Amino acid sequence: MDNAKIGEVFNKIGELLEIEGENIFRVRAYYKAAQILSSYPVDLEKIYKEKGIKGLREIPSVGEGIALKIEEYIKTGKVSQLEELEKKLPPGLADLLSVPGMGPKKAKQFFEKLKIRSIDDLEKAAREHKLCKLEGMGEKSEEKILKGIEFLKKGKGKIPLGIALPLANFIIAELKKMKEIDKIAVAGSVRRGKETIRDIDILITSDSPDKIMDRFIKLDVVREVLAKGDTKSSIITKDGIQVDIRVIKPECFGAALSYFTGSKEHNIHLREIAIKKGLKISEYGVTKGDEVVASDTEENIYKILGLQYIPPEIREDKGEIELALKYQIPKLLEESDIKGDLHIHTRESDGADEVEDIILECQKRGYEYIGIAEHSQSLKVAGGLDKKKLLNHIEKIRKINKKLKNFYVFIGSEVDIKTDGSLDYDDELLNELDFVIGSIHTNFSMKKDDMTKRVIKAIKTKKVNILAHPTGRLLGEREPYEIDLDEIIKAAKDYNVAMELNAYPKRLDLPDVYCKVAKDEGVLVCINTDAHSIGELNWMSFGVITARRGWLEKKDVLNCKGLKDLLNFFKK
Ligand SMILES: [Zn+2]
Ligand SMILES: [Zn+2]
Repeated sequence: MDNAKIGEVFNKIGELLEIEGENIFRVRAYYKAAQILSSYPVDLEKIYKEKGIKGLREIPSVGEGIALKIEEYIKTGKVSQLEELEKKLPPGLADLLSVPGMGPKKAKQFFEKLKIRSIDDLEKAAREHKLCKLEGMGEKSEEKILKGIEFLKKGKGKIPLGIALPLANFIIAELKKMKEIDKIAVAGSVRRGKETIRDIDILITSDSPDKIMDRFIKLDVVREVLAKGDTKSSIITKDGIQVDIRVIKPECFGAALSYFTGSKEHNIHLREIAIKKGLKISEYGVTKGDEVVASDTEENIYKILGLQYIPPEIREDKGEIELALKYQIPKLLEESDIKGDLHIHTRESDGADEVEDIILECQKRGYEYIGIAEHSQSLKVAGGLDKKKLLNHIEKIRKINKKLKNFYVFIGSEVDIKTDGSLDYDDELLNELDFVIGSIHTNFSMKKDDMTKRVIKAIKTKKVNILAHPTGRLLGEREPYEIDLDEIIKAAKDYNVAMELNAYPKRLDLPDVYCKVAKDEGVLVCINTDAHSIGELNWMSFGVITARRGWLEKKDVLNCKGLKDLLNFFKK
């Protein structure tokens, strides 16, 4: 069974309960279960078969009620609570919540007053200015909803890397089981690690393309076969993602990989360089007259053009070719360079696991340290800690630290930056912490100037060490708030603050282009998973890919530093 599917069910229940006006803590329990189950590393059906309900209940955030619903889903393929909710509320209503600027109260109000059941209904009503006449609404909020719908449409068909990459890896792993496959690799924007992609391209070398095509179109993930040919086939997955595979000759693999990885701009620039050297470049190879001079590996293609090898993540024609001509491409960050994860939530606030288990997992990953950063007091819905709880928590972590060898747990906090730019704890309490992550979780719709001032004021308190998810965006769900990031990065430089690159796949925030800006300004980037459960520690890889797209090297990343250097950085 697909864990993500059961995650979706609980997410939907949460949304519909929210619209119904259910207690927010109950609603969040569903959302949390959804999040944890979707990324849970072991197949739920397997757990259930081996250990029954008891096994399910061992999963963090899974109580009796949720466990019974998982059992029901495994046995019947559905959950009756969801069906009942959908009888009361039209299922399209939950879609309304995906429109930025829409909340459950509004969704319910629009449904009851205007019979709005879908995003199309919503758009029509907004265009006819019917929304602004309702209680609590105005022209501004109506406009905001229209903008939100536009944002959604713009993002349609764009798939987050966090979904595309695991899917590509899954398909590759399935096909690799065939003995007929020689080489197989993902190409296109997935290989370049773009934050959102349109489709997945996979390249294969084999002597029996027909067998491969037969297997490909019968994979479990396939919903629809668009085309099946000798050298190319296309399918649509059950999630609506197009996947193309091409079977090519072994001797052309490098040329094809380079060609289909792109970007288009990068390839055009390569072609210009080839022409200047009297060469021609295509998906089949580099040729001089009739003779093929390079085609089997990408390394050889770049070499024959007089270029250093260029990592896929920076093939955007943004200066990488010029540097490759001089053999000056920097050595980009590798995941093995990461020494710790500095933004982790435990059960103390809204995380799912105990700190002891997180430590064990991070030691297994080869980390030297981690940072625990629970939410601060005003963020009550996320289990923010009041002063007393935080002091107890600090003491608990310090005790754990004393017992650890060759591993250190930094005790920090993800402290809300309030609307006026002040921090959510007083200085005295902040001084008790090893480090502070400053974070915006409220009032996203401030004007650009005000938002910039708000964050800079927080930076100027000299208490913030890391600025969390600096644009607040959620890919495909929420636009970044308006903020002058260039100004923020300058302030970060002046006050020795690191910019977080939050690796949660929907965030990837700091965006890649601003990673580069931070690097050029000499501001360190800190790649954190913001994990709320052990499974989510794996998100580090998405952060590293994004950092590579931003040209970051080991030296540019705060959590590549050793323990001593990090202690120094936090000292201020
Ligand atoms: Zn946060
Ligand atoms: Zn967080």
